[in-house]
Amino acid sequence: MPGGVSSPVRSFKAVGGTPRFIASARGAVLNDIDHNAIIDYVGSYGPMIVGHAHPAVVAAVADALARGSCYGAPTTLETDLAELILSALPGMEMLRFVNSGTEAAMSAIRLARAATGRDIVIKCVGGYHGHVDGLLVNAGSGALTLGTPSSPGIPRAATAATLSVEYNDLEAARTAFEQNAGKIACFAVEPVAGNMGLVPPEPGYLQGLRQLCTKHGALLLFDEVMTGFRVAWGGAQTRYGVQPDITCLGKIIGGGMPVGAYAAPAHLMRQVSPAGPVYQAGTLSGNPISMTAGLATLQLLQKPGAYEQLESSSLRLEAGLRAAAAESGTPICVNRVGSMICPFFTARVGDRVKSYTQAAACDTMRFSRFFHALLAGGVNIPPSQFESWFVSLAHDNDTIDRTITAARLAFAAAR
Ligand SMILES: *Cc1c(COP(=O)(O)O)cnc(C)c1O
Repeated sequence: MPGGVSSPVRSFKAVGGTPRFIASARGAVLNDIDHNAIIDYVGSYGPMIVGHAHPAVVAAVADALARGSCYGAPTTLETDLAELILSALPGMEMLRFVNSGTEAAMSAIRLARAATGRDIVIKCVGGYHGHVDGLLVNAGSGALTLGTPSSPGIPRAATAATLSVEYNDLEAARTAFEQNAGKIACFAVEPVAGNMGLVPPEPGYLQGLRQLCTKHGALLLFDEVMTGFRVAWGGAQTRYGVQPDITCLGKIIGGGMPVGAYAAPAHLMRQVSPAGPVYQAGTLSGNPISMTAGLATLQLLQKPGAYEQLESSSLRLEAGLRAAAAESGTPICVNRVGSMICPFFTARVGDRVKSYTQAAACDTMRFSRFFHALLAGGVNIPPSQFESWFVSLAHDNDTIDRTITAARLAFAAAR
């Protein structure tokens, strides 16, 4: 296996060293094959919002598995999960299940191009929408750059219709729209950027994108693969009150099983095959195990107080990290939206991280030392400065407080 892993960030390439191999997990704790118990803030990069191996999810999946793992025919599980998801997203009326966030983004872009009859997609520098050819464009620091593939193996033609602009830079978005009037199919954005570390939208940014898309007849595509059911029950679109035209989902809606989905108003979704001509299919799509894990997870999140609990434990962690860093004089900027949190190792105390450029300027060497010290202290965070941490319902106050104690030592060790 390249790098010994099935997905690159797991390899510890950014921080050095060898990843832990995991034998089992329960609640907020991972157990590695060397019998270490580690408090986990990776949460499989987002899906495990109710904690690992939640008894309700395990029981539902075991029961579903005994009835067969896939049929290639419709089930009421799909209908139930679709209804629950759509009830959380006012404005989204129909959806299609796929197998990953990558597939959701790829299919949503196809729909946006078909619906508008236009080719150009605008995305943000440092925005991640899976490993789709046309979206693997990381256009450097220019305000507006024509697409250059950020991986070999992608033909220039595949990214020629992709433009990149800085996240949180409404002027750059406006310029891109004006210079390509009548040619933009959609603006694809993570409404809360979670793949450059964590960078929340500046006040008015998402509203401004909404207005630009409406004005120019383009579709606003919110990639909520990470933020859907994470930053609020109804995702970032309800948290910030901005209505996209297409929503991509994944991660949490599969409760730890492979899944993705894209949703939109009916007039758009009816263009998807077989209701319409836009082809998109999948042998394992909507499979009963993923649907069951997703349903069980969302039902736990629907319980009164779930998001309030996520907010208060995440706030406790945020405050603790700030205090722990201050003790050792470590400059950090802690960005947090709900249960997504990311401490950036900035150059000076008081520096803010509001853009990809500011995130990219952080001290990744200090982050690496902090990461390893924290892991030695029994706490697992993503092995990169440019990933969000995820708090789950299984992180109780005691778990958070033990994390803060470990972080105090790790900040000191990383100086
Ligand atoms: C994780 C993620 C994806 C890709 O999802 P996969 O299931 O890994 O293919 C796409 N968009 C965003 C915003 C993500 O966080």
